[in-house]
Amino acid sequence: MPASVQFTTAPSVARHVPERSCVACRKKRPQGEFVRLIHAGAGWTLAGKHKAGQLLSGRGAYVCADTPGCWAEKRLRRAFGAQAASLSLLLQTQSHPQAQELHPANL
Ligand SMILES: [Zn+2]
Repeated sequence: MPASVQFTTAPSVARHVPERSCVACRKKRPQGEFVRLIHAGAGWTLAGKHKAGQLLSGRGAYVCADTPGCWAEKRLRRAFGAQAASLSLLLQTQSHPQAQELHPANL
């Protein structure tokens, strides 16, 4: 058994993870931790909503997927203007797909 085996370390151990920043809180995080929104034709929509095969390209925006505070209309208004209200609702319903009723007690 040769005792001169050398362990070589790869020059770049960590792969580059693309970072995005939230349009609401401006925090930088890995892309996978965001909900992606895209501007398609009629306006902004959740990227996850389009059907397979209908790849929509164009302007993209990212909002924290796990931070309800970033889904508030007033925080989205900077990026989405008049569409902030409907996108705020979309974000809240898509994160709780089983909850059909909104609870005003949380407001
Ligand atoms: Zn955020």
